[in-house]
Amino acid sequence: MLCPVVRKEQSKMTTSDIQGKDNKITALYCRLSVDDADKQSDEESNSIKNQKQILQDYCKKNGYHNTRFFVDDGISGTTFDRPGFKEMETLAEEGKIGTIIVKDLSRFGREQTEVGRLTQIVYPSLGITFIAIQEHVNTSTGEGVEIMPFHAIFNEWYAAQTSKKIRQVWKTKSEHNMRVSHHVPFGYVRDKNDKEKWLIDEEAAKVVRHIFELFLSGMGTVQIAGRLKEEKVLTPNAYYASIGRGYTFDLPDDPYKWKDSTVSHILDNRKYTGCMVNNAYSTVSYKVHKTTLIPEEQRQIIPNCQEAIVSEDDWLRVHELRKNRRRPLKSGKTSKFSGLLFCHDCGSKMHFCTSRTYGPNQDFYRCAMYKNGKDYCSAHIIRNIVLERIVLIAIGDLADFVRCYESVFMYMVGERNKTLKSEALKAEKMKLSQAEKRQNELDFLTKRIYEDNAFGKLSDDRYEKLIQSYEAEQKEIDKTIAELQAKLTRTERESLELSYLFNKLRNLSQVTELDPELVNTLIKRIEVHQRENRDGRKVVKVDIYFTAIGMFDIPSEKEINAIMRRMNGDRKTA
Ligand SMILES: [Zn+2]
Repeated sequence: MLCPVVRKEQSKMTTSDIQGKDNKITALYCRLSVDDADKQSDEESNSIKNQKQILQDYCKKNGYHNTRFFVDDGISGTTFDRPGFKEMETLAEEGKIGTIIVKDLSRFGREQTEVGRLTQIVYPSLGITFIAIQEHVNTSTGEGVEIMPFHAIFNEWYAAQTSKKIRQVWKTKSEHNMRVSHHVPFGYVRDKNDKEKWLIDEEAAKVVRHIFELFLSGMGTVQIAGRLKEEKVLTPNAYYASIGRGYTFDLPDDPYKWKDSTVSHILDNRKYTGCMVNNAYSTVSYKVHKTTLIPEEQRQIIPNCQEAIVSEDDWLRVHELRKNRRRPLKSGKTSKFSGLLFCHDCGSKMHFCTSRTYGPNQDFYRCAMYKNGKDYCSAHIIRNIVLERIVLIAIGDLADFVRCYESVFMYMVGERNKTLKSEALKAEKMKLSQAEKRQNELDFLTKRIYEDNAFGKLSDDRYEKLIQSYEAEQKEIDKTIAELQAKLTRTERESLELSYLFNKLRNLSQVTELDPELVNTLIKRIEVHQRENRDGRKVVKVDIYFTAIGMFDIPSEKEINAIMRRMNGDRKTA
């Protein structure tokens, strides 16, 4: 089962979600200045009364409830030492405010550094949306955020505070904002009513599905590109041009000329399973360590963000297979086992030895380290036809066993892999959530001492000492979390693969011939032993590692009975 990753990002929330969830206060902030600069501007338009009116109208129109005014009359925008503002900030820190709305950015403050810190770092970390009506800024949708001239401010601020940490945070945030405009993959189209939403573009999605099918049937990317050309399937660019969605309306010279890299790109794109893949963290945090590109295993996968074009199962199979790249052979023949077959003794790949002139009985495999009789490794020769028969029998036997003894099979697998059991999984998840809790605490503490230092409550010396100890702990805890997450991802993948294998085997009717798809989906690895002479006959032992369960010895009737007794015993003691 996939563990759903909670989407922390607020951008998908609608106004009513924000309002309906916990009915937090919508803070409407007004300020009238005594500054000369402000006086010269249109005083009437900035009067508190006028500001209030604008804010009220905005809330009515956009469905913000539970509103409350916070007013500072006659106070400069260069200081944040204002009673109304302070009151609002206290409530914000207590988590009571959901949204802060101002008429324009300058109402909020003229000290741009501080405005930037609050709107870009502090409020997002508290889950607060900041809206400036005049500038069309809305931090929950990312709208208008880029017009806030924070990059320049940030540098200024950085120089003053010499805080590397904060600079890093800034980088994360801006990288994230850039990702918001990420392009929509071939097969989807942006929803006209909701920019964030993707809909399936059926015409293109058909092509995507076709590509996955072809790959799972054993074709490589080059072959698939060739096939698409034969079938006169428009390339993505040609397709966009044909419907007027591309950058150009001119059809390319050869609209069917698919590149294998395009095919690869489509096969590797996990978003076709309906998920989002976040390389960076979507929430703003004070952590330095999180800004590096996250390894594949730890990327944040958020399922069900759009309708799936390809099933999760199929995508994972394709992904597994692409890790063992397969190339078509010069002879034009392809091996059903390429990428799967290894020498048991030296671990190297087995070469498929064939030629156009060979009959089907003559194709064979040989250890890649066996070089013309030189003794790197012995030949480990096995004929293709023999191997096919062995694999066919192994699959058939396993399928028979699974069909007849479903529960015994699941019990055996469970015993072999304890982490697949739910109690063990629960314990791991518990550990992870504890570590994450501590991570949040450290986040909070880091932020708190930063603020204390910025407002002069904490000496630089003391701040340095504290930050160093927090950082050290942070590093440790980040490591722990990464390890636990990787472990859980692995377990989830294993259990997913197991259910895939199980369903495939259960529904397998009489197998009489091996097709590459069957081999690729059911088998992970095959090892070939050196032949032996046994009672005057030559015998080759082959180890078959199935997907998810590895080597599996089908138990005898006696063994099955023993397992069943154990299962009953477990049930009684449980
Ligand atoms: Zn070898």
